[in-house]
Amino acid sequence: MAAGAVQPADARTPLLEEAGLSWQGSSLAVQGIRLTEIADRVGTPVFVYNAEIIRSRYRTLTHALAGIPHRVCYAVKANSALAVLRVLREEGAGADLVSGGELARALAVGFAPADLVFSGVGKTEEELRAAVSHGVGHVNVESREELAALGRVADALGRSVSVGIRVNPDVTAETHPYITTGREGIKFGLPVDQVREAAAWIGAHSRLELTALAMHLGSQLLQPEPYREGAKKLLDLLRTIRTDGADRLRFLDVGGGIGIRYGDEPGLDPSALAECLRPVLAGTGLTLLLEPGRYLTGSAGVLLTTVLYRKHSGGRDFVIVDAGMNDFLRPSLYRAHHEISEIEAGAGRGTVAPVDIVGPVCETGDFFALQRSLPPMASGDRLAILGAGAYGFVMSSNYNTRLRAAEVLVDGGRFGVARRRERVEDLLALEQADPWAGGS
Ligand SMILES: *Cc1c(COP(=O)(O)O)cnc(C)c1O
Repeated sequence: MAAGAVQPADARTPLLEEAGLSWQGSSLAVQGIRLTEIADRVGTPVFVYNAEIIRSRYRTLTHALAGIPHRVCYAVKANSALAVLRVLREEGAGADLVSGGELARALAVGFAPADLVFSGVGKTEEELRAAVSHGVGHVNVESREELAALGRVADALGRSVSVGIRVNPDVTAETHPYITTGREGIKFGLPVDQVREAAAWIGAHSRLELTALAMHLGSQLLQPEPYREGAKKLLDLLRTIRTDGADRLRFLDVGGGIGIRYGDEPGLDPSALAECLRPVLAGTGLTLLLEPGRYLTGSAGVLLTTVLYRKHSGGRDFVIVDAGMNDFLRPSLYRAHHEISEIEAGAGRGTVAPVDIVGPVCETGDFFALQRSLPPMASGDRLAILGAGAYGFVMSSNYNTRLRAAEVLVDGGRFGVARRRERVEDLLALEQADPWAGGS
């Protein structure tokens, strides 16, 4: 390694480590492969996921939970690439789904239906039919009307269904208002005072069986206490419901939300979470269900992008890159902070100075960083946006008729294209310039 000149210790160092990235000479590399090589071969923008990190996250979590009967169901919505799902399925994870499309993905990579949980506040009857006919492990319902729909579907298909009730435990968890979900007055879950009646309704239905109480407090939680508080509330409820005769209640589903490091702040330590939940669950005979998404994939991915142009305007320096908010929405949508690193250290090019890193999309909100201190860059330089493995590609769009990025998986010292870059033909194929031409 070029002595010390390469990368001063800064906020990015632990993030690079958590992504499995290291400097090889002046190049940033993953599993011995230079990111520059991936960018050269696949083009940019490209999401690069490190399978080893996904595995080690899964193992860290399951080790922390040792001694607590548990099941980890990966929240597919965080990153639903088939290649990523396969890695987690091979590790032994189940999956948490929020749409019929995600169900199809999970089945496509061979998840056993019994290992699937179907969540979501607005499942259609068609989605419920698909879930019931495949025999998913749990359907977590969120309203009385959804429960009635599920009952109709179970009757029509002649199938019995294990039901979870997603409760809104009214626990305040500190996170972004768009991703807090466990408080009163939010669309998610059944309010506590409606749970008993819903449980009785399930008990009276011949094909439905109440097997789980569930919650999901929100995303990017950095403290374990809300989990304890929520789990206690679920347990209190569970005890009253059991005395009403729902004696098959076996699962306590505490949802996802385990926070990760994006900047200076370390993520939520899984062992702190486990130690918080252990006493609550002790002696209950219940199996803990967890549905982490971001925790398993967030740190494992980076978005590589290429500098197109620079300009100076209104006293600010702009760096215009080839990825945009359509590729990676979190900075624009949540004002999320993502560290950005050069992938080739340009020793001696000059001192760091604040720049705005912006995309090509015709929106002022199309930025990845504002007034970020970075070394000087030139057209053609590549940057890695860190922490892009969760809620990255899955939130991308074709706004401005931009083609969605490629996705690459790195595993066993190799890299492979998990999803090819879109072509404009892919998009145009779905459209009719004249919807009435050609009859029918
Ligand atoms: C989004 C979601 C998750 C995963 O959240 P993360 O913050 O990514 O861990 C888990 N369960 C449910 C029901 C969700 O909606």
